[in-house]
Amino acid sequence: MRIELQHVSKRYEAEAPSVKDLSLSVQDGELMTILGPSGCGKSTTLLMIAGIFPPTQGDILFDGHRVNNVLPKDRRIGMVFQNSALYPNMNVLKNIEFPLKNMGVARRERMQRSEEAARMVQMSDYLRRKPGQLSGGQRQRVAIARAVVKRPGLLLLDEPLSSLDANLRGNMREEIRRLQKELGITTIMVTHDQEEALSMSDKIAVMNAGELQQIGTPLQLYNAPANWFVANFLGMPAMNELMCSWSADGCLQIADTGQTIPVNGGSGLSALHQGQQMRLAFRPHQVSLITATGQFRETDLRGRVASVEFTGRERLVHIRIGDTAIKVYADMAESLDEHQEIAIRLDADYYLFDRESGENLRLPAAGGQPKISETGDMPFVKQAAYSL
Ligand code: ADP
Ligand code: MG
Repeated sequence: MRIELQHVSKRYEAEAPSVKDLSLSVQDGELMTILGPSGCGKSTTLLMIAGIFPPTQGDILFDGHRVNNVLPKDRRIGMVFQNSALYPNMNVLKNIEFPLKNMGVARRERMQRSEEAARMVQMSDYLRRKPGQLSGGQRQRVAIARAVVKRPGLLLLDEPLSSLDANLRGNMREEIRRLQKELGITTIMVTHDQEEALSMSDKIAVMNAGELQQIGTPLQLYNAPANWFVANFLGMPAMNELMCSWSADGCLQIADTGQTIPVNGGSGLSALHQGQQMRLAFRPHQVSLITATGQFRETDLRGRVASVEFTGRERLVHIRIGDTAIKVYADMAESLDEHQEIAIRLDADYYLFDRESGENLRLPAAGGQPKISETGDMPFVKQAAYSL
């Protein structure tokens, strides 16, 4: 099923709008994640798609048909919440079967479909158990089976993994993704967990304070964030930032140290004005570390090692540049001591964000501005430059 939201807004009574002018589309069979911090309007959006809340403004279309006035039960949706309530006195099989009973499906087909759904979520060995005898992860599996047994055209998942422990979350991510692909079911999932969104989604829609920030593939959002909010929200460890301003001779002046460095390459820098306040930003793997003071260049950013964190395959070096703390990955072979002088060399991959609007002013490679909608292609996204 293809889903479209056209200029959808939601205002709860006298409150400020919880969702503002949201337009997006989800293609048939796609898994789209709505990602954003708590309170940004994710659940509100999902509940409008489900038909539980009517939008204050705008239209919702399923396969091109306006469904604003269609009742939830007639929308062909399956829903799973963070803590899905199962019927406590029914066993697993009866819980999964329940929606089919409501639909008036004959007993034999009910059994067949319920057992199949249980098998898909790997709960076949627990059919006679009551919900109270299941772990949190198993209960969520049953909830998912109950949602897909109806063969809905659209699966809506609201933070389905948030209540599970970290280990189980990883497994369930893979399982939901596998099931979603196997069934080819259009899915909209809500989460505040960027890692979950990056690892599971075909597309991600990032929201903040009720407003859409950007839509794209995980790689597009990670490599070419439209603004500082998206840049900062995605990725772990987070993107580094150094406050700076634009000086007339095409240089950046770093606020903390007063150092000026030239800006090379990139695109989209034409409209800058002298003194414009910006953030120089880069991810922990996007710069080179220079450890031998003899090799420092004028244009390198100088700092000191604050501490070195062992992460397994690499080390994460905590560096202070003036009063700003940043993190950069280093090879295991590099010799690094606390307090030693160190330099950071910017290669092609760094970003400049306007400090007021948050807008991304510079892209790593040539090619125009990041777009908010998913319709424009993004030629500047470096192919497979980073693994996610
Ligand atoms: P999220 O799911 O992203 O955490 P929500 O969609 O639940 O965010 O909430 C968005 C905003 O709308 C919040 O400010 C919240 O307080 C408000 N809100 C959510 N549900 C209601 C409601 N039923 N009545 C009034 N305000 C609500
Ligand atoms: Mg929510």
